Amino acid sequence: MPTDKRAKTETLVQGISASQGITYGQAFLYIQSDLEVPSYDIEPDKQAEEIVRFEQALLATRQQIQKIMAAVDKNLGSDEAQIFDAHLLVLEDQALISETIREFENTGKNIESCFNKISQRYIKAFAEIDDEYLRERATDIRDVAQRVLHNLLGHSSQSLSQLVDKRVVVANDISPSDAAGIDRSQALAIVTDSGSKTSHAVIVARSMKVPAVVGLRDLTRQIQSGDWLLVDGYEGAVVINPSQQTLFRYGQIQLQKKGHEQRLLEANRRPAVTLDGVAVTLRANIEKVDETSLVKEYFADGVGLFRTEFLYLGSSTIPTEEQQYQAYKSVAEALAPSSVVIRSLDIGGDKPMAGQAHLFPKEDNPFLGYRAIRFCLANPEIFKDQLRAVLRASAHGDIRLMYPMISGREELARANAVLAECKEELKSKKIPFNAELQVGTMIEIPSAATTADLLAKDCDFFSIGTNDLIQYLLAIDRVNDRIAHLYEPAHPAVIRTLNSVVTEAHKQKIKVSVCGEMAGDAVYAPLLLGLGVDELSMAPPLIPAVKYLIRSMKLSDARKLAADALQLTTAAEILALCEEFSRARVKSA
Ligand code: PEP
Ligand code: MG
Repeated sequence: MPTDKRAKTETLVQGISASQGITYGQAFLYIQSDLEVPSYDIEPDKQAEEIVRFEQALLATRQQIQKIMAAVDKNLGSDEAQIFDAHLLVLEDQALISETIREFENTGKNIESCFNKISQRYIKAFAEIDDEYLRERATDIRDVAQRVLHNLLGHSSQSLSQLVDKRVVVANDISPSDAAGIDRSQALAIVTDSGSKTSHAVIVARSMKVPAVVGLRDLTRQIQSGDWLLVDGYEGAVVINPSQQTLFRYGQIQLQKKGHEQRLLEANRRPAVTLDGVAVTLRANIEKVDETSLVKEYFADGVGLFRTEFLYLGSSTIPTEEQQYQAYKSVAEALAPSSVVIRSLDIGGDKPMAGQAHLFPKEDNPFLGYRAIRFCLANPEIFKDQLRAVLRASAHGDIRLMYPMISGREELARANAVLAECKEELKSKKIPFNAELQVGTMIEIPSAATTADLLAKDCDFFSIGTNDLIQYLLAIDRVNDRIAHLYEPAHPAVIRTLNSVVTEAHKQKIKVSVCGEMAGDAVYAPLLLGLGVDELSMAPPLIPAVKYLIRSMKLSDARKLAADALQLTTAAEILALCEEFSRARVKSA
């Protein structure tokens, strides 16, 4: 780590604002990188020392794993902690250890290169076995081998479950499964070198009400763990080693923002009705069962998007039908009589499951790959467990189902055929479910948008996932910070597409919701409503600002805004029009 380069004086690093809030605290540096293992000869008189070094690394690894086990046991429970038993067994594997020593004696090469060679051979052998249990051993060996190598090379290997003492998490990137494992009471803020506003880790930060800044390029190279950071999630900035003067200034800003947020929260108790008397449905996006408390706290009209993959990502085992049934039932019961839209598993892409490497092979283009409904249709047993769980839970509350990443009518029909099979299975066992369960499809692939007229005939509602729809329409990877400035929700192609999807849905008399991040952005919410979108669904903490604006505007004006936006030719013009609309209303309110 280039400690000599780190800033001792105050330094401002500008990134992209991803989740609002201001915080000040010490950094917890979290670096995930592929290890480079050097290979060199060991002098004959140093060979005994090399073996001792190996034994010490194995011992240090054992102690680290035991420490993590204790932390996981405390935060997530003993079932999760038991996963690490398998890791301890790898450390005791005599074949792996004695083969490494034999390799060392035969070649005279440094011990890390010998250990790397032998562990890679084991990983490959286990990964190729046609038995799920044995294949999982490959993942265990890989994890443990990385730890041993980190110890031999003198790096610290880390896990976010080691996060304690309220720190600012600073990472080059955070995978959704990393994010799912963060203890929210210990993360003051999340800041990353890469990423964008719609990366899934950021979406999680927003629901956790944790300030986040992304796209900070090389922040991880400028600081080290323990450095003091001020994170400004409003402006997307991080100040390294802030001076007293800067802290004072930000303290003032924080007070102002808190006052403003307090006013929004007070207004949030009132209904979302426009000045011309039109009631607007504002729903919540949730990732975890315990977020039902946020849904109530922010007075959301139930859940418009339950991202169920986070039940999978927070664990290294696939949740059973029964576990999922309990989870969905408890959400439905907690929020009754409001409805809950459960999205079937959208895993893969930037959301591979940890500990299930054999199900998620590495892909060159993960966002164009084996993800969501594609993964579910290729793994019918996993899909059916989830569908049966949703159906069974539908007997206990107003549950609706929707499929992610549908590309056209055929795929929707295939998903519905699997659902029909599940209904038959439950019927034959006399297990109750709602036979009239409403089933919708997300519109987030351009081919679905252009065939919305066909899809609308085969489902009960649409929910537009603008995060993905924009990524695919504009060919902008939603997690690539280098091109994040080109990710333009106001692009005429986006506005025209939204307009045509809403028109086609309404022709078939089905409702349209938007559940991408655009819905929770007070700049775009009026435009969406003006285009005819029926419902908006967003992270609960975003509801107050959107509701405040809705209560300050007329729907007739929003319709005019949309009509004007459809005449404009550039994203910049449309954005300016939307910003002006919001600014004028909020100022005069
Ligand atoms: C979307 O794509 O807009 C969406 C809501 O789904 P996700 O962000 O989970 O991909
Ligand atoms: Mg999506």
